[in-house]
Amino acid sequence: MKVNVVKVMPWHPNFVRLQWELAEVSESGTFNYSVERSGSPGGPWTELVSLLTALTYDDDLSTQEANTLSLARDIYYRIKATPPSGGVNAVYSPIINLDGLVEHEICDAEPGNPERPIPQNQSEPDPQRRTTAFPRTEGGRMRLLKRKILRDRYIMLSKLNGIQYYLLKKRHFGTRCTDCYDPNTRSISSSNCGTCYGTSWEGGYYSPVEVLGRRVASETDSKISPQSKDDVNFTEIELLDFPRVDHGDVLIERAHNIRWFVRKRKIVSLKTILVHQNLVVSELPRTAVEYKIAVSL
Ligand SMILES: [Zn+2]
Repeated sequence: MKVNVVKVMPWHPNFVRLQWELAEVSESGTFNYSVERSGSPGGPWTELVSLLTALTYDDDLSTQEANTLSLARDIYYRIKATPPSGGVNAVYSPIINLDGLVEHEICDAEPGNPERPIPQNQSEPDPQRRTTAFPRTEGGRMRLLKRKILRDRYIMLSKLNGIQYYLLKKRHFGTRCTDCYDPNTRSISSSNCGTCYGTSWEGGYYSPVEVLGRRVASETDSKISPQSKDDVNFTEIELLDFPRVDHGDVLIERAHNIRWFVRKRKIVSLKTILVHQNLVVSELPRTAVEYKIAVSL
């Protein structure tokens, strides 16, 4: 059994309509569904509803101070489907974001290529499943082309020049920080707060997401920061297109625990296919509150 999200549609500043479907069903009876939301594909996840029998759900974000038309942040969903035989056989859909992009399950294995055999515990990628990653109006040729480009990029990053990063997605909705947020002035009283790390949202960031990336600027650019008048290292880091990285997110170079603040995201597309994102980042000073975020490197 598989569950696929077929539509994620913001249709009002505070609503997102989700629609999903079951595939490869081998039981009969009543299936029920839970919908989970996060600001990051790495969670933590909030269960919005459970025991649904319908195949659609409208997520009301009005109590979350989250505007779906804002371009500054992304929202992720996943659906859990429970078959009549019960919770032990429940499955999750791939994670999908507001752009309709799903998590890639790119592996080194390639069907029909003896040099890259499919591992025994994996089955061939289901072409049906991947259709949710793209608008339905796009042709199959584009899908395959994108899949090939992503796969080549992934192999390049994993085999040749990629290094491991943790992505910390910054919170943009949820519960305001009770330690430093003043609802009257809508501002924080301390940028050094260990509860929200200067974001005004409790927890500050979501759980770390492992990503592969590479620096594309050969020499780091030293510029004078207008705030501190210190030298700041700027560089550019290339990542695959999912998960989306937004201004204010933090990238951690795992080998050296170097933390980068994401200033700008540039999309690189090839023949209108979104291929990867280049991020203009600046190195955070070791005294920055972002170094207080606990991450197991
Ligand atoms: Zn705080």
